[in-house]
Amino acid sequence: MEKELMHNILRAEIKDRKIPISLGKTCPVKCTFCYEKDHSYRNTFDTPRTTEEDWQFILNEIRNFPSKADESWVLGGNEYMEWTDIPLHPRAMDWIEEFLDTTDKKITMFTVGYVNPERINKLAERHPGRINFELSVITLGEARKKMMPNGPTADQVLKILDGPAVTSANFYSLGPDTMSRDARLISRVNQNCLLWMGCLTPLKYIDPDTTALMRYGKKHLAEEARRVYEYNLPNTMMIHTESDITSFLNRKKIIKVLDDCELEKNDTVVMAGNVYKVLTMLRPNRAKYLYVPNDTLGGDSNCTTLLTFSDVAKRLTGQSRVYLPKVIMEKSANDERDIAGESFDDFKAKFPRCTFKVLQKVNSNLSNRKLYEKWFLKNYVEDYLGNPLSKKFEMMSLPN
Ligand code: SF4
Repeated sequence: MEKELMHNILRAEIKDRKIPISLGKTCPVKCTFCYEKDHSYRNTFDTPRTTEEDWQFILNEIRNFPSKADESWVLGGNEYMEWTDIPLHPRAMDWIEEFLDTTDKKITMFTVGYVNPERINKLAERHPGRINFELSVITLGEARKKMMPNGPTADQVLKILDGPAVTSANFYSLGPDTMSRDARLISRVNQNCLLWMGCLTPLKYIDPDTTALMRYGKKHLAEEARRVYEYNLPNTMMIHTESDITSFLNRKKIIKVLDDCELEKNDTVVMAGNVYKVLTMLRPNRAKYLYVPNDTLGGDSNCTTLLTFSDVAKRLTGQSRVYLPKVIMEKSANDERDIAGESFDDFKAKFPRCTFKVLQKVNSNLSNRKLYEKWFLKNYVEDYLGNPLSKKFEMMSLPN
């Protein structure tokens, strides 16, 4: 790859507050649940393995950005490069250390556990509050080998957890006595890290066995969550990945935001199934709700934030004016693009007879803020499982 092109890609990632280290190959861990298995929905570049010279370029570019107290630089989750478990790069730990020692910026890192436990915990001691370490535990149980054939062992993961480094650990319900068992185990070695629990959502390219396991886990989420709730662990506990549940828990806010948008009854508003169900149940006929399935991601995906313009295009039937939530065009910090990288301007050009209006209040700031407010295990158990209305909500079907 030409140097100039590579520098442009790195700069684009850096603009989005990424630390774009590349393994130079697809992720060798080969998790069966990996959402990056099929990333054809967005345009990515095959960048070569990051060299020391590349790293110095990255670091110098990042140094040019002013530091902000609430800003963290992300290691993992690139936009224009494929996602991999970056700590697998043999120099990753040295570079993380250099980043922390020579800048005053914060770092957010994701890994399934490819870090040296002693080294990362020492680093966290030396730089308190600067490492946001999200450890993808997934499961410590029986399904681990099957889902993460090349993943680190459960023992390695527990060693990393035994120290100050990990800020949050995510793991899932995959059936009876899975999530609840892991919650107890993790809490025994680390009472300070946040426990992010929930279930994995199958997307269209996930293999049938893994899809079945994810759905089985979802079926048991309620009982697993109740168990964890009863354990009364000292850790902060959150439930995530369930967009229907999040929408239900945030139903009052969703209704209020819709009311604030001052729509007319005949206005057409785009939304995915999670918000559609809330509004149809609690605010019927306030506007025309245009249900848009998450066709790009497919599977059981049901989330307005993850809609693409192509999903919306498939559902338009000659409307002259359509309202779109801002959240679907906020993938990049630099311009209005959806998660597939299509720009709002390109999308609009395909429908010259339709006027698109953007609901500015329905933005990712709001959805992220709300997500953290209401995604505690306590909210799920008390306000969802304990709420008779949630049964009705679950029974609701979506239009064809
Ligand atoms: S480690 Fe992460 S990026 Fe690699 S296969 Fe697993 S989920 Fe995907």
